[in-house]
Amino acid sequence: MPRTKKQIQSVKGMHDILPEEQPWFDYVLKKGREILEDYGFSRIETPVLEYTELFEKGVGLGTDIVEKEMYSFKTRGGDQLTLRPEGTVPIVRAFIENGMQSLPQPIKLWYFSPMFRHEQPQAGRYRQFWQLGVELIGDFNPSSDAEIIFILYKLLQELGFKDLVFQINSIGDENCRPEYKKVLKNFYRSKIKRVCASCRVRFRKNILRMLDCGNEGCKEILKSGPQIVDFLDEECKEHFKTVLEFLDEIEVPYILNPFLVRGLDYYNRTIFEVKDESEIQLAGGGRYDKLIELLGGTKFGAVGWAIGVDRVIIDLKKIGIKLPKTREKPKIFLVQLGELAKKKSLILFEEFRKAGINIQASFSRDSIKSQLRIANKLGVRFTLIFGQREALDGNIILRDMGSSVQEIIPIEKIIEEVKKRLKEI
Ligand code: AMP
Repeated sequence: MPRTKKQIQSVKGMHDILPEEQPWFDYVLKKGREILEDYGFSRIETPVLEYTELFEKGVGLGTDIVEKEMYSFKTRGGDQLTLRPEGTVPIVRAFIENGMQSLPQPIKLWYFSPMFRHEQPQAGRYRQFWQLGVELIGDFNPSSDAEIIFILYKLLQELGFKDLVFQINSIGDENCRPEYKKVLKNFYRSKIKRVCASCRVRFRKNILRMLDCGNEGCKEILKSGPQIVDFLDEECKEHFKTVLEFLDEIEVPYILNPFLVRGLDYYNRTIFEVKDESEIQLAGGGRYDKLIELLGGTKFGAVGWAIGVDRVIIDLKKIGIKLPKTREKPKIFLVQLGELAKKKSLILFEEFRKAGINIQASFSRDSIKSQLRIANKLGVRFTLIFGQREALDGNIILRDMGSSVQEIIPIEKIIEEVKKRLKEI
């Protein structure tokens, strides 16, 4: 019996980004870079691996990410490491470690990086996915919340999204949130038998997560539940009010979602999300004024967001966005025949490239027929034919693909000649 070969496949939930997908990633990266750098953000990239402890401390032990979703392992040297599940905590680590605390504030950073979470894969949900994100560190002012929300709105608009609405909420801070949690617990106590199994666990472990349960029964119960905005202290209330006033002024469409919470412990006060028409979350973020201190720095206000790049691309394709052409079509094709011509062709190709002429060749093909077929397919205007004889004589054949007229040109004049002909088109 023939032995069946077992094909090794990519890891579950992780996908290749093939050449035909790259222009979409480039598009998001390019737009992101343009807008974020206009607004004074500088790019940062942190390592893919960090000490596990960093996320346990920063993201929070009771969160789904830390409890269930991290790729963690012990190295041969005995270090306990984790593949980065999100971007904020490593950036705050880098901010402290690289002395950015003593620079003029705020520090504005952006990133475009892969993240890793061991979630259940489904359409638009992967175990390795890309995020484009920003962090503004060093400001407590509500104008910073509004500024980064505005930038996110502009970026999504420029990418091609229309009719986007932000969901926004304030989850208060360590002064007022405990009281809300207490009231919420009392509210659920008499209803605990009616909520789903996961919510029963959340009730004990992280009660705020009960607010974003997707179960219909749980959602119904929550409708009459207490809202955190009614429990905000004066400072948090004032902060939130000012953020909303800013958003009104700069015309960012939003709805208040009193039950919005986020899956990371570091947030306080403003949090927000953007969903598409199918309720898929495209981006999310918020304020995190305690995180820098928690990770060993001094007290700094901070706010940030992250876009799910893979999801954004899925939606851009659905909307029918056409990508701008990034590279003009080649105008010249170099056909090489025989050993000597082949050897000299790479140098010739490089000379054309340096002269800024978009040239293509197929160095692996030998027959003139197959090479001309590619030239035709590419729709080039001229083909250069470089054979054994031409290589020996120091000439090259210039073929006009429209008229099929061929001329012999001395090799040292060919770039100049091609430039002249291309100008005449
Ligand atoms: P978060 O870091 O959880 O605030 O997520 C920010 C954004 O990343 C979300 O709004 C999603 O668009 C995207 N995202 C989060 N998890 C995944 C995932 N498993 N696969 C693809 N995109 C994701």
